[in-house]
Amino acid sequence: FSELAEEETVNHVKNLQSGEANIMVAVRVRPVSKAELKKELYPIVKVMDDKFITVQDPSTGPGDGEFATNQASGGVKEKQYAFDYVFDENTEQKTVFDKTTQILLDGVLDGYNATVFAYGATGAGKTYTMLGTPTEKGIFGNSFEELFTQMEDHSKDKEFKIKMSFIEIYNEMIFDLLLPNEKPLELREDATKGIHVAGISEIRAESTGEVLELLHLGNQNRSTEATDANNESSRSHALLLVTVEHKERNSGTEAEIKVGKFSLIDLAGSERASNTNNTGIRLVEGANINRSLLALGNCITLLYQNSEKKSKKYIPFRDSKLTRLLKDSLGGNSRTVMIANISPCNSVYEETSNTLKYASRAKNIKTDVRRNVLSVSFHVSKYQSIINSLKKQVNEL
Ligand code: ADP
Ligand code: MG
Repeated sequence: FSELAEEETVNHVKNLQSGEANIMVAVRVRPVSKAELKKELYPIVKVMDDKFITVQDPSTGPGDGEFATNQASGGVKEKQYAFDYVFDENTEQKTVFDKTTQILLDGVLDGYNATVFAYGATGAGKTYTMLGTPTEKGIFGNSFEELFTQMEDHSKDKEFKIKMSFIEIYNEMIFDLLLPNEKPLELREDATKGIHVAGISEIRAESTGEVLELLHLGNQNRSTEATDANNESSRSHALLLVTVEHKERNSGTEAEIKVGKFSLIDLAGSERASNTNNTGIRLVEGANINRSLLALGNCITLLYQNSEKKSKKYIPFRDSKLTRLLKDSLGGNSRTVMIANISPCNSVYEETSNTLKYASRAKNIKTDVRRNVLSVSFHVSKYQSIINSLKKQVNEL
């Protein structure tokens, strides 16, 4: 049957069961590192509970490594923010996954789109959150584990197909991280596929272990270059694109295939070019990274204004590769989670404040979620007539 399934024709794309959804915004604070402790850096971020976080302006603080608990203690300037979730430095990978991403997966398995993206400055913990380490798997690995488990649970009556691609956007060029050293890929848009990357390699995913091995290798192919801000600054945006298709078993020659697109994104560092001693090629990179992140910022700001003022301002998704690819995740057909990563240290106060401001704006953005159903008919008739004529020949022998 699966051979025949390759011969399917898409008759039309249907969208069922619409509904509005807010972007969920979570903040994760990473621990102070040993190197930072050695440099006598101290935390200026305090997680109040699982919704509130407070940040002190270190120029007004006691500066002795003690987090002042009230304004009276030396006129400390502090600001509190609220989010859907705030995760402190002790929160485990699995907990972050359970609270942010787990809830999206039922939808993905049922033909809805979902997006999770990590935002924040270099060194804030984006890659740790998304990819994780070989021993502490992040959102990528936990998602695959959950998807495989649920697919297994439903395998009696549903037939699943899960594919993945892993790409980076670097200098406004798209590269395949699973097929390194290839030429940049182009973005295309059409009615059935929507926006997609032409010529991208798609791998049929079989097990979490195998997937993670590929992703760790792919991550090493990312364009990273030493800058003064951090010696392993990620200069590129990495996008893991997962497609989950399924149809009911016994659905015969006419079937509905439900297609859930799941995008998992590890953005490039959000720090401004001025914070690093970038010159030449690095500066060009900075400008292009900022072009994608700037475009993302513009889109988020305008979407936020639209939802606040119930206006319908034009959203410039076309301004960068990243925003073109994220169009559905932000303004359209996707349930979306943003994880804002921050460092707790006094040395990066400005970046932390910027990240939290940015994340606050994203909270109000609404997306319009629909289910993707392809109506297909299988070319069984063609094969059936060949089989019939062969049978006839056999009978006549
Ligand atoms: P980014 O991708 O944002 O540049 P990384 O994810 O590479 O930052 O994190 C920087 C360093 O901090 C890495 O060594 C990483 O392992 C460590 N780290 C980040 N977040 C955590 C965390 N929640 N718990 C423990 N270590 C973390
Ligand atoms: Mg990184």
